[in-house]
Parts: sequence; C-alpha cells; structure tokens
Amino acid sequence: MTGHSVLDTDILVIGSGPGGSVAATKFAEAGRSVLMVEEGEHLPLDATPHFSCEEMLHKYRSAGVGVALGKRKLAWVEGSCVGGGSEVNRGLYHRTPPYVLERWARDYGVVDLSPGEMTQHFEACEAVATVQHMPGKPSESSQALERGATKKGWTAIAAPRLYRYDTADGRGSKQSMSATFVPRFKELGGNLLADVRIQRLRRTNRTWEASGVRTSGAQKTQITIRADTVFVACGAVQTPALLRRSGIRHNVGNSLRFHPMLKIIAEFDHEVNAPGDFDPVHQIKEFEPRFGMGCSIAKPPLLAMLQAARPGNWTSIERDWRRMGIYYVQTSGGRATVRNLPGFASPLVRIHFTPEELSTLADGLRHLADVLLAAGSVRLRPCIAGYPDLDRQTGLAGLPEALEAPDGSLTSVHVFSSCPMGEDRARTATDSFGKVHGTDGLYICDASLLCTPTIANPQGTVMAVAHRNALVALDRKFG
Ligand SMILES: Cc1cc2nc3c(=O)[nH]c(=O)nc-3n(C[C@H](O)[C@H](O)[C@H](O)COP(=O)(O)OP(=O)(O)OC[C@H]3O[C@@H](n4cnc5c(N)ncnc54)[C@H](O)[C@@H]3O)c2cc1C
Repeated sequence: MTGHSVLDTDILVIGSGPGGSVAATKFAEAGRSVLMVEEGEHLPLDATPHFSCEEMLHKYRSAGVGVALGKRKLAWVEGSCVGGGSEVNRGLYHRTPPYVLERWARDYGVVDLSPGEMTQHFEACEAVATVQHMPGKPSESSQALERGATKKGWTAIAAPRLYRYDTADGRGSKQSMSATFVPRFKELGGNLLADVRIQRLRRTNRTWEASGVRTSGAQKTQITIRADTVFVACGAVQTPALLRRSGIRHNVGNSLRFHPMLKIIAEFDHEVNAPGDFDPVHQIKEFEPRFGMGCSIAKPPLLAMLQAARPGNWTSIERDWRRMGIYYVQTSGGRATVRNLPGFASPLVRIHFTPEELSTLADGLRHLADVLLAAGSVRLRPCIAGYPDLDRQTGLAGLPEALEAPDGSLTSVHVFSSCPMGEDRARTATDSFGKVHGTDGLYICDASLLCTPTIANPQGTVMAVAHRNALVALDRKFG
C-alpha cells in the first residue's frame, strides 16, 4: 500500500445504497458539507446489462456469492457499487405494511413511526425516485401467476416499481439511486468518493476518524476521513461488521433477518418467456405475513443455475426455456448473527431456523406448487436437490410437510434488522431515529435499522426511514 490521504468533512455517510443516498441528499439540501463514500465502483445504470455476468462482477459484493452458515444454509446477495442494491434489483415497490410499523412501535418502542406519520416520507422519496405501474401488458409468466391465483380465489396484485415509464408500451428507465438521488446529491454540492472501503471508526476529541483503503486500478492507498458526524449505511451485514470492528457491539449484529425464498421452475405448454419480455410483476398477497409468492426473471442462465443440482434437467432447459418461468415463495423465518473473524475481510454470518419456520417454508412451497398447477403448468421442478418433479397426475404428493432442504436451496435478496432502532434499549442498537446508543454523533441509516422483516419488498421502507431520520437529525442539530 502506498500513500495516505486525510480528508475533513462536516458529515460523513458511509455507503451509497438507498439508505445512504437518501440521507446524504437531505443533508446536502440543508446546505451541509457532506462526503459520501462507497466501497464499490461508480458506474452508470446501463454500464452492464441487467441480470448479466458483467453486472454480477462489477455491481455485486463478491460477484454475487454470499452464504449464511448453519444446519440449513442460506445463499444471499448484496449490491456493492454506487447506489448499492438499488442498481441491481428489480425495484418492486411497496410502502411498509401498517401492521409492520405498528409492531415495531409496540415491540421495540419506536416512536413517531405511525403509518400516518410515515406518509410524508414515502411521498418525498417517491417525488425523487418515481414509482409507477407498468402501463402495458405484463409478461406471460406474470399473467400466468395471476390466472392461477384467480382460479384459487386468492388475492394477487401487479406490484408497482421504482421505474419511470416513458411510453405506453412500457419502455422507460429504472429509478435506481445512481439515476435519482445520487445526481441530485452531487448537484446540491455533495461530494462522492467511490472505491473507498472504510475499515474502522474511532472517536478522538469530539471528532470521528474513519480509516480505510482507497482503490484505484491496482493501486491501494490508505485514507482517513475526519468528521463531526458519521452515518453508517453499509447495508444490514456490513454495517454491524464495521461497527463491531470499531468496538461498538450493543445489540449490533445479533438479530439479522432475511426473507428466505424457495423457487420452482414451472413449465407450460406454450411460450411464457420471450426475450425482451418485461420483468414479471405479479405477487400473491393472500397468505402474508406467513408467506408471499411472486415471479422472478427467468433467463436461461438463471434457470440452469437453479437446476445445478439436477443435471438430468439441463438439456430440457436449453431446449424448452421459453416455456419456463421461475416462481418463488418467501417467508420471514430464520435468525442470524454477524461476527468478524481475525484475518478475514468478510464477516461470518450464522443462521438458525426453528422447526416451525421450516414447516412454514414447506407449507408455502405446497401453496406455490398448487397455484402453478392451477395456472396450467404441465410440469413443476422444485429448485431443491432431491425433490421430485410434479405434474397434474402426481399433484402435490412428494412435497414434504416440513422442509427437508439440503444445503443451498434457500436464497434471499432482502437483508435487514441487524441493528434494530427503538427506545427499548434491551432490544435495540439505536434510538428511534438511528442514533447509536451510548455514542455522540454516530448514526445508522440503512436496512439494519428495520426492526423485523418488512414482509413487502423493503427498499421503500429503507428510503422512507432514512428520510425521516435525516430530517430529525437536522432538526436536532445532530445532538
Ligand atoms: C438482487 C436484488 C434484488 C432485490 N430486489 C428488490 C426489489 O425488487 N424491491 C425492493 O424493495 N428491494 C429489493 N432488494 C433489496 C434492496 O435492494 C435493499 O433492501 C436495499 O438496497 C438496502 O439498502 P441499504 O442502503 O440498506 O444497503 P445497500 O443497498 O446494500 O447499500 C450499502 C452500500 O454500502 C457499501 N458498503 C458496504 N460496506 C462498506 C464499507 N465498509 N465502506 C464503504 N462502503 C461500504 C456497499 O458496497 C453498498 O453499495 C433487492 C436486493 C437485491 C440484491
């Protein structure tokens, strides 16, 4: 490592995902001197095709490989680039369900977070990052799920997205952070440094010192940033890892949660998956909060990856992928911890599922199979090693009552709750507005704060909570 630079700023925001970008923009709007640093690259949204290998290499942490270890493993992914997860996700959007906010108030003592109080924060974020329903017809794979739900008499919706549709046939642009809040932040005079990983925080004489490494090509230099106030927004796994490395541990990294997901590939007797199709948007809400269902992107490499443990199916995927869709069931089970290991850059994540949580997953899988058969699927391939294919003859026989999933079948793209907020200090890492208990001038402003899983897609909640907390911090003058 060569060289060492030292920078000074009033406010330092670490991480540029939805939490960091929204908060940093509010501070820049208020005329404060703000530096936002990001470990990943700064790339335009269209620098890599969506859901491509290039995207995984440049915009995901560890090229999309992350695993929570335990008796039952869970594979998860995080974005790592300017804009964080918003750059790689589909932007399916929901405001937080009122029953979730009410639970956080009741169980964690979060104040001023009623659905009514949150409305202004959702509206303010939606004014910068547009949320719209797709104007045209959704893809055939999406409509198939809706048809199945209608046959079963279950409630299904077409979810809106963080997307601005410019034409009636559904063309437009995704409203990721790099396309919305980040340019606004920079126009307002905010400073952004990409390729900077903060490794440790230290408090000296009423100032915070953030030390880390700046990467430029093959060259690495040390960097120290001095700030009056620090907002940590590294995402729900990296935030507790950074805080714990810095000696801050009270309820930090003990309560990480996911939306664990199981998938089924459904094969139809007609084409449901044409190149250039719009992203599927239908979701089945009937059984929430126990479990929810929806459809995923089903490009051939994704179909093949999901059948990696079943080589017998590879040839048919190559031949018949246009007749196949990927569908998921998602729950909120499993509890995980985040711990640093000496000598390792990445933290160890350990997860545990109760027998009830595994039964809920199995029940969700049965419901998903049921609705897909009702939708007219001719063959279902559960994406779990050892599970048999299903069709109308076999029905649901062959699906177990409780999950027997061998390693690798559970996945998640939603992570939260590792540093919950609220006034109940026995359960929380920060106060109701993200200020870390027992510290001065240190805040969290990302998905770590969400006390429990959101059940609905979480990015809207992450943004609105960051907006709310930034306004309160400005109002209190960061006291
Ligand atoms: C594939 C995928 C699909 C998803 N689909 C949806 C969806 O359709 N709808 C939805 O609502 N949500 C979706 N999500 C979840 C959503 O993207 C996240 O909830 C959201 O991005 C979380 O925001 P955040 O600010 O907490 O963290 P992140 O978005 O994870 O951002 C954290 C940033 O901090 C950076 N960072 C980490 N550590 C450091 C460090 N030490 N120093 C400097 N920088 C650091 C990271 O590189 C990252 O860019 C999806 C996520 C993924 C990965």
